[in-house]
Amino acid sequence: MNDADRDRMKRCLAEEMERCRAEIARLETTADPVAVDSAVGRLSRMDTLVNQGVSGQSLSKARRRLLLLDRALRNADYPGFGECVECGNPIPVKRLLLVPETEYCVHCAPE
Ligand SMILES: [Zn+2]
Repeated sequence: MNDADRDRMKRCLAEEMERCRAEIARLETTADPVAVDSAVGRLSRMDTLVNQGVSGQSLSKARRRLLLLDRALRNADYPGFGECVECGNPIPVKRLLLVPETEYCVHCAPE
């Protein structure tokens, strides 16, 4: 990976982390368990619980993503950055810009 791409990736990662942090802050408000007590009636209470479950899942997902982004950003200055941890081939910058937290090329990606 050349220096220009590396700089581009660092900017991309920093921006993505900002977005992720904002998302976490937003989800933390929705997943707040205190909201259950203030729900009126049985139905809205159910709705609240369902919504909370969904927000809770997105929240842990967003938190995990933030950790991955943070790790990628800290690795960005090392020579192996942008190489697949599985096969060692360089991950195309196009893919990295789309999924900046990834450590896998498209062939080795677990999902
Ligand atoms: Zn690979």
